[in-house]
Amino acid sequence: MKNTLIFFILAYIPLAVNATPFSWPQLTPKQIGSKTYVIEHGPHDENKKLSRGFHNNPGFVITRDGVVVIDTGSSVEIGKMILRKIEKLTDKPVTHIFNTHFHGDHWLANQALLEKYPSARTIAHPKLIALLKAGQDKFWIDVFTKRLGDDFKGTKAVIPAEAAASRDYKIGGMTFTVKLFDQAHTATDLMVFVKEDAVLFTGDIVNNEHFSFMGHGNFKGAYEATQWALAQKPKYVVVGHGRSGTQDLIPAFADIYKTLRDTVIKYYDQGLQDYEIKPKLIAALSKYKHWSGFESQVGRYASLLVAEVEAEQFQ
Ligand SMILES: [Zn+2]
Repeated sequence: MKNTLIFFILAYIPLAVNATPFSWPQLTPKQIGSKTYVIEHGPHDENKKLSRGFHNNPGFVITRDGVVVIDTGSSVEIGKMILRKIEKLTDKPVTHIFNTHFHGDHWLANQALLEKYPSARTIAHPKLIALLKAGQDKFWIDVFTKRLGDDFKGTKAVIPAEAAASRDYKIGGMTFTVKLFDQAHTATDLMVFVKEDAVLFTGDIVNNEHFSFMGHGNFKGAYEATQWALAQKPKYVVVGHGRSGTQDLIPAFADIYKTLRDTVIKYYDQGLQDYEIKPKLIAALSKYKHWSGFESQVGRYASLLVAEVEAEQFQ
C-alpha cells in the first residue's frame, strides 16, 4: 500500500509542477549501427498538438571522445528532449553538431545542446551560415513562432559557426563523410555518411511517405544527390522526414524526382501551362497520394518545375 502510494506521488509530480509538460514518452533512440542511433519523429506535423513540432529524425553517434549529433529539431524543448535521450545512453559530452540544411526544423533545437555543451562545434553548409546570418534566422523564428505557439517559447536562433567542406571528418575513431550539395532540397544541403556503421543521413533530399516543401530547391540537383547517396552503399538510411530504413528508400525517392521532372518536361514541351500540368503530375504520382504533404506540395511542384525547366533552356 505504502509503495503504491509513493508510486502514484512520483508518477504525478511532473504533472503537478507543469500542467502541460513537454514529453515525447513514446520515443526511444533506435540503435542503427554499432555506435549510431536515431530518434525517430513523433506524430506528423499535421497534428501539432501531438507532435509539438517534433517530426524529423535527429541522429547521434557515440564516439570514443564524445557524441556527434546530426540534425536537431524545431525548438529548444526538442533540443532538451534530444539531450535527455542521449544522456540515458552515455555520459560523454556532445562535441559536434551537423545540420543538414537551413529549414528551421533541422537546426532551431541547436540552442539547448549548445547551452549544455558550449564548446561543441556546429558545422553546416557555408551558404546556410551566410543565409541565416543575413536575416533568414529571423524568418525561421517567425515561421515556428506562428506554427508552434507556446511550444516554441524560449527558443533562440543559434547559428552554426563552422563552414563544412565535402571531406571526411575523423572524430573519436569514427569517419564522417560529409558531402555538400549547392542545389538539391535547398541550396544549403549536406549529407553525412557514418562510414564504419554504413549509416547515411540524407536530410530532406530523401524522405519516406512525405513530400517536403521544395520552394528553395532544385529537382534535378536533388535527383543527382540521390545518386551520390546510393553510391555510398549505405546499410541504413536516416531520411529527413518519415521512418528510416534500408537503402531501398533512396531509389524510391529518386524515382519521385525523376517522375516529376519527366512529366513536367513532357507536357511543357507540348506547350501546356503549369496549371494544366498540375493534374498530370497528380496522376503520375497517384500511388503516393496517401503520403503526407501530397495535397499541399505536389501542386506547387508543377510551377516550381516549370520555372526550373524554363531556366535550364536559357543556360
Ligand atoms: Zn525538414
